Amino acid sequence: MNEKPAAPTPEEYPIAWHALPEADVFAALATSVSGLDAAEVQRRLRVNGPNQLPAAPGKHPIMRLLAQFNNALIYFLLAAAVAAATLGHHIDAVVILAVVTVNAIVGFVQEGRAEKALNAIRSMISPHAQVIRDARRQSIPATDLVPGDIVLLEAGDRIPADLRLTRARALLIEEAALTGESVPSEKREALVDARSPLAERFCMAFSGTMVAAGQGMGIVVATGAHTEIGHISRMISQVQEITTPLLRQINEFGRRFTWTAVSAAVALFIFAVLVRQFHWEEALIAVVALAVGVVPEGLPAVITITLAIGVQRMAARNAVVRRLPAVETLGATSVICSDKTGTLTRNEMTARRLVTAGHEIMVGGSGYRPEGSFRVSGRDEDMESLALAAPLLRTALLCNDAQLRQTGPDAWHVDGDPMEGALVCLVMKAGFDPGHVRGEWPRVDEIPFDAKHRFMASLHQGPGERVIFVKGAPEQLLAKAAGQAGAHGTEPLDAPCWQERIEAAAAQGERVLGFAMKPVPAGLDRLSFADLDTDLIFIGIIGFIDPPRDEAVDAIAECRSAGIQVKMITGDHGATAAAIAGQLGLADRPEVVTGADIDRMDDAALKQVAERAHVFARTSPEHKLRIVQALQADRAIVAMTGDGVNDAPSLKQANVGIAMGGKGTEAAKEAAEIVLLDDNFASIVAAVHEGRTVYDNIRKVIAWTLPTNGGEALTVIAAILLGFTMPMSPVQILWINLILTVTLGLVLAFEPSEPGVMQRPPRPANAPLLSRFLVWRVILVSFLFLGGALAIFFYALNRGHDVETARTMVVNTIVVLEIFYLFNVRYLHVGSVTWRGVLGTPAVLLVIAIVVAAQLAFTYTPVMQAWFATRPVPLADGIVIILTGVLLMAVLEGEKALLRRWRLFGDEI
Ligand code: ADP
Ligand code: MG
Repeated sequence: MNEKPAAPTPEEYPIAWHALPEADVFAALATSVSGLDAAEVQRRLRVNGPNQLPAAPGKHPIMRLLAQFNNALIYFLLAAAVAAATLGHHIDAVVILAVVTVNAIVGFVQEGRAEKALNAIRSMISPHAQVIRDARRQSIPATDLVPGDIVLLEAGDRIPADLRLTRARALLIEEAALTGESVPSEKREALVDARSPLAERFCMAFSGTMVAAGQGMGIVVATGAHTEIGHISRMISQVQEITTPLLRQINEFGRRFTWTAVSAAVALFIFAVLVRQFHWEEALIAVVALAVGVVPEGLPAVITITLAIGVQRMAARNAVVRRLPAVETLGATSVICSDKTGTLTRNEMTARRLVTAGHEIMVGGSGYRPEGSFRVSGRDEDMESLALAAPLLRTALLCNDAQLRQTGPDAWHVDGDPMEGALVCLVMKAGFDPGHVRGEWPRVDEIPFDAKHRFMASLHQGPGERVIFVKGAPEQLLAKAAGQAGAHGTEPLDAPCWQERIEAAAAQGERVLGFAMKPVPAGLDRLSFADLDTDLIFIGIIGFIDPPRDEAVDAIAECRSAGIQVKMITGDHGATAAAIAGQLGLADRPEVVTGADIDRMDDAALKQVAERAHVFARTSPEHKLRIVQALQADRAIVAMTGDGVNDAPSLKQANVGIAMGGKGTEAAKEAAEIVLLDDNFASIVAAVHEGRTVYDNIRKVIAWTLPTNGGEALTVIAAILLGFTMPMSPVQILWINLILTVTLGLVLAFEPSEPGVMQRPPRPANAPLLSRFLVWRVILVSFLFLGGALAIFFYALNRGHDVETARTMVVNTIVVLEIFYLFNVRYLHVGSVTWRGVLGTPAVLLVIAIVVAAQLAFTYTPVMQAWFATRPVPLADGIVIILTGVLLMAVLEGEKALLRRWRLFGDEI
């Protein structure tokens, strides 16, 4: 076989595909309506390569490393290093440079790892394409497309490659990504002039653009870099920015803080030289120590990592975060609005009940295995003939796009919509061969299902007659029907009787679908909505069971204990939805509101109703938008699910838009903050749980870091104001802040959830990051750190140690206090002195081991002693230092107990 490219690349032969007749396109690409076979696909994939654009070049690593230095504090430190060098403090200068460099490298590596982890998570939701290969409809990763593939398009799809359209049904494509034109382009099959500009090639669909409405089919003419979007390579850079409102707020705070600290340091310098008569060199060192001590250098890095870990944990629980701020918002979610079918229920449908004008038939069997009995209700014997139900079964099979495939001895797989799969299964249970019947009744045209009109219609050429078959929400069909199919031909419609049967089935939680037909003249080739408005003959209804997901029941109970309201929003019938809501435990007596009710309400009325109601039934995507807005007007933080292209506006409006990874369209995924890999309600609740944990951990990181800085700054200020020797040198302070605090603080990023995270109400959206209690804590602990540091300093001097040894002991004290305070801060909501608290997690113990080793090296190795001017600390003094940590722990536990008794901070502790 010769390995020539299957499709000549446009560079080599600029083929005007838009000007070629369809037959020539098929011929040129050596393909057909039944698609390529697997071997040919493999060959073309080898020759053409995968269907992807070359990755947008990221920032060069060196630039990223340099960016780490681009911050006010680093400039200040570099200036300090230069000053130290000119003053002859060469070791100090080198140490400052070394610490700054280590910090930049750690930041660089951590940022790179966080970015890589986020990118890996994003690739979990890579797009798929619907193709015809080997004469069978299949879903494949879009990167596997090759020229000659036949691609099927639906509303909400992103076009995966450049296509020559062979079928366009009301197909509207939004091409802004390519042409800048925001009005969707109406596509047609007819070819256009070879010289037409891109925007006028109506028989083409271009990679990267989006189907706004309709259906279509096309032949892949170019993939990857050979597509039009590949040529202009204006691919929007996919690199996710690692920032959130919270992080920005903290960075901004840090920046302002740095400048305040620097100005305060200057003021203090003047005070020290003029009032305290410090030598200016000594004063300079002191204020450098102050500025370095007061700024929490490592904080933004640790918080970024906390967020990245949250994202990873959510991904492990099947919720992929597309936009980082969602991690924070999820923790504050107070209302979750969820779809019913597939999210709260399993979306494993079984047709259980058939109702025709004269009979009701119950069907046995479970799952998609096409075996089960038919029993006419009220009678015991098996039905002798299914003749009565034959027209209903035929409609169910023909007005249907699903295929049922046997994948194992007892395993059956639905390609397509599960409800339609259940209908194919039903028809097979009745003994019909779907392939045979579909062959006898070829389809001429169709109107696809849309959540807005809630039905689907197809036009077929049967043996000697042409017929429209319709299936959809039964009220919709009854409203259009003129007659009903009876045992002896068409009879007048008995709508009230049907209503009663529908209600009865729905009240049992069955999803009810109606069926109708209409014979038409042979000349009709194209279906329009108008064709369905007259002379429809109602045939019957079918009831499906779709059991609730077991996990959803537990997840809803968890939401109730966590003060999160759950609302079901569905296109389904009110009675069905209410019955399922009851089974799920959504409310003791679910209150149902329908789309028609909502249409009659103004925004003020809807606001009240939305707050109360549990179930919104027979809603369209437009209603969803109004419901979110109504809930938000009541200050709710709303998470909302969606899957269709029309759900995009409500997903964007919601505080957290959640798209379905399985059944969702690309349009919905792109509008969403979160994509669920398993379409499961329980995964949303898991994500909320992780979101609350992340937020808790960020607060812990801050509450833990700030007192270290507070303690250090107070110590330096005290030394200057009271005029005694500095208890720590600037490089020692740098060592604590940049090396030890960052390492220890990382532990908090990995903290598991505290017990009871899902037992408290959601945090108010406007709650400050540092609550009154935490502010109090930061101040108190800062003074305790000051007290500990000074006590040890003077104790050491009193014992006759030199200043260097005393300083070494002070640094060790601060580290010991940090470690003990870490255990305290790990539990903000419950007591810390429990076995779980004392034993810590493996991460805690590992990091403490690392820090202790580093601290021993700092104190006892000659190299570090030379660098940081440290001295060995005698064992007895080491024990005294550790005792200060124990004392801190005791004071803080006592404080917690007192505050609880006095209830100074309400419910917070
Ligand atoms: P849900 O909220 O349960 O996902 P949908 O919007 O998918 O609801 O469907 C709403 C209604 O539209 C269903 O109750 C059913 O009556 C009808 N329907 C759903 N799918 C189809 C289909 N493939 N063909 C015809 N009608 C359908
Ligand atoms: Mg649905």
